[in-house]
Amino acid sequence: MTDQVNPAKVQKIPKINGVRGMNDLLPADAAQWTHLEHVLRDLTRAYGYEFLRTPIVEATAVFQRGIGEVTDIVEKEMYSFEDRLNGEQLTLRPEGTAALVRSVIENNLLYEGPKRLWYTGPMFRHERPQRGRYRQFHQFGIEALGFAGPDIDAEMILMGQRLWDELGLQGVRLEINSLGQANERAEHRTALVAYFEKNQEQLDEDSQRRLLTNPLRILDSKNPAMQDLIEGAPKLLDFLGEESLKHFEAVQALLKANNIPCKINPRLVRGLDYYNLTVFEWITEELGAQGTIAGGGRYDPLIERMGGKAAPACGWAMGMERVLELMKVSGSLPEPQAQCDVFVIHQGGETLTAAMIIAERLRNAGVDVILFCPPDGQTASFKSQMKKADASGATYAVIIGPDELAKDEAQLKELRSSGEQKAVALDSVVEAVIDAIVGATE
Ligand code: ATP
Ligand code: MG
Repeated sequence: MTDQVNPAKVQKIPKINGVRGMNDLLPADAAQWTHLEHVLRDLTRAYGYEFLRTPIVEATAVFQRGIGEVTDIVEKEMYSFEDRLNGEQLTLRPEGTAALVRSVIENNLLYEGPKRLWYTGPMFRHERPQRGRYRQFHQFGIEALGFAGPDIDAEMILMGQRLWDELGLQGVRLEINSLGQANERAEHRTALVAYFEKNQEQLDEDSQRRLLTNPLRILDSKNPAMQDLIEGAPKLLDFLGEESLKHFEAVQALLKANNIPCKINPRLVRGLDYYNLTVFEWITEELGAQGTIAGGGRYDPLIERMGGKAAPACGWAMGMERVLELMKVSGSLPEPQAQCDVFVIHQGGETLTAAMIIAERLRNAGVDVILFCPPDGQTASFKSQMKKADASGATYAVIIGPDELAKDEAQLKELRSSGEQKAVALDSVVEAVIDAIVGATE
């Protein structure tokens, strides 16, 4: 029988939960993120890309203009609100490019010539949360502004391939397409509208609307019932002029010369409105429906469209959660690392004072230290502290009890292999620890 509980006595204060689709990063997963961030930092440095950080909140117009009104993001996914104090229309950024371009224009960064830039941070989209799809997620992205040639498209794709290699990810497939230029898309659009009008009864509701606003986006539909119709639609590639084809072929030739396999996917149109010429995506089969881990392309019209002096540009963005998930399923996450090198044990009072001083000296010397702090603010048995030292992953324990302190000493104990323990003068603890660490790595 269960105990009878008096409900009057257990008036619990209700807890407050996080927002649906917005996740905490818990300590157990922090090391994976740090690892990924390090790899990304090294990658950008290897190619001469500079870091640029924009605010999380922008004027809504940045995304309306920068992404395009007839896109999933602007139509239904943005967290927009009015600033209660001054009535400004604001939006939590749903992606990085539009805001970065806003900043580049505002700060006149292209004044001295082209720029290679990168960014990372949280993005916000009101979507149905599921595996690999969240309402707050994180992107890493690179943008090269002021470069017109196919060389930069190829460089950026090489960076992606290098990244998958660095992260130990195999089987990430590259798909590539060319969206040509506006006039070529206009011709294609005419043919496309004629085709879809002829088959209007097969269009779903979203596509009926897009037929009037942005028929190219019908090709992006994920509705399975639409796939046969889409398959038979006129292909943009057949409408490309000489210049566009030359650019596309040059990108492919550079990729081939660098042994980067890619598949031309004539149906790849990308979700955002501002792309032209090269577009590409990296796709994996390992993550179910959310298989696109990164994508991007050329967006030559955007800078002018955002109010800057016309300049060509190219970039791609990656979903960090999806990449980490892929690393998890393919077993390429790094081993978790120990929290610290040394765990310091004491018995409170003067031994605490001495322990804290020693811990600081160790940190001055670059050693990572956890100092035992008793949960009840009093002290704890030697045994329970040793258990904590063990669980911390520390390689050494430094023990300062009353007996040790009376002799101006500490005990230095190896925790992982030998278990060896020896007395060390308090003044020489730092030296002894460093000798031990260096000795162990030799
Ligand atoms: P999808 O087709 O999966 O909705 P998208 O075309 O909307 O992706 P982009 O705007 O190109 O995505 O963003 C680049 C990358 O960011 C995507 O390839 C994906 O890895 C990631 N991403 C996009 N939306 C989300 C989300 N809601 N949650 C987690 N990652 C996301
Ligand atoms: Mg999307």
